[in-house]
Amino acid sequence: MPMTDTKKDYQKILGSVQKPVKGEAGKTGTWSSKKPVIDLEKCIPVKSGKASCFNCWLYCPEAVVSRKIPPEIDLEYCKGCGICMEECPVKAITMEEVKSV
Ligand code: SF4
Ligand code: SF4
Repeated sequence: MPMTDTKKDYQKILGSVQKPVKGEAGKTGTWSSKKPVIDLEKCIPVKSGKASCFNCWLYCPEAVVSRKIPPEIDLEYCKGCGICMEECPVKAITMEEVKSV
């Protein structure tokens, strides 16, 4: 899905704003009830082999997504908010229930 100019502008602005620091909110993974799972067969940088998209990295409020191929999510600090899922242009991310033990 092509990015609109508005989205590009927004990414530019967000890219210039200081990103949050991983772990600022503590080990959120201990209480979150959902976790994101990336379908690597749909993920744009994995499919293209190029450093593109990374909306999940850009929009994650906890800075727990890596900007590499494939993107990786540190579930110890992920709070399960689902923003990455909302912002993924190809619906490669799903939120799965965390089973309590
Ligand atoms: S937003 Fe979706 S397509 Fe883009 S890098 Fe993240 S998982 Fe891949
Ligand atoms: S659900 Fe996604 S956006 Fe939310 S904290 Fe976890 S990785 Fe970041």
